[in-house]
Amino acid sequence: MTQEQLCDYLELYRDLGIDMIYIRSSAAKSRSTPAPAEPVAIPDVVIPGLAPEGDTLDQIRLDMGDCRLCRLCEGRKSIVFGSGNQRSPLVFVGEGPGADEDEQGLPFVGRAGQLLTQMIDNTAQKEGIPVRRGDVYICNVVKCRPPENRTPLPDEMEVCGQFLFRQLMAIKPKAVCALGSTAMKALLNTKEGITRSRGKWHKWHGIPVMVTYHPSYLLRQYNQQAKREAWEDLKTLLHFVYD
Ligand code: SF4
Repeated sequence: MTQEQLCDYLELYRDLGIDMIYIRSSAAKSRSTPAPAEPVAIPDVVIPGLAPEGDTLDQIRLDMGDCRLCRLCEGRKSIVFGSGNQRSPLVFVGEGPGADEDEQGLPFVGRAGQLLTQMIDNTAQKEGIPVRRGDVYICNVVKCRPPENRTPLPDEMEVCGQFLFRQLMAIKPKAVCALGSTAMKALLNTKEGITRSRGKWHKWHGIPVMVTYHPSYLLRQYNQQAKREAWEDLKTLLHFVYD
């Protein structure tokens, strides 16, 4: 890797809010049982390519294998990689799999997923945009279910985030929709709350990112206002991508 490429990658990691990465010592590499990863400050290490040239979703899934890079592997039934159109100009990013997703190995298949499907299908239909859920790509920041559906911890987001970032770079969509504050933080490295960030355009490595509420938040009955706002956000997003 050239010095220039290395600088690009380090800059990319910093933009993503990653200030520590984990490598195995050479001694650890030679052991048959993996040793605990050691935290290393970014400026001191050479890191592997974040998105190898010609990267594909199949390759990324292959590289993940039976991933055990973070503690979320312990309670999972399946790795929920992502689903949908691999060439979609629009990618939705959620937080992490829930119980139904863990069971089926697919993202957004539970109640929140059904709401997301309705939101995409109904908004597109009303706006005369020929798009359905199956036409977009959907994935999460972490690919394994956090215990008790807790929010993923920062180190889990950092480690698993590398796969998300490779997915986005491989697909190169016209826009990304960050569903909820975990996806927003993972992509935008912001401390702003979701109510301030939603409905606006942000950028992730040149790709426009629309932030909106997570469907599970919208399922709470008292969130009628949030529902209206999310539908507005989606309208803006779909017109931007498909007009
Ligand atoms: S959450 Fe991601 S990094 Fe952690 S074990 Fe699962 S696939 Fe690997």
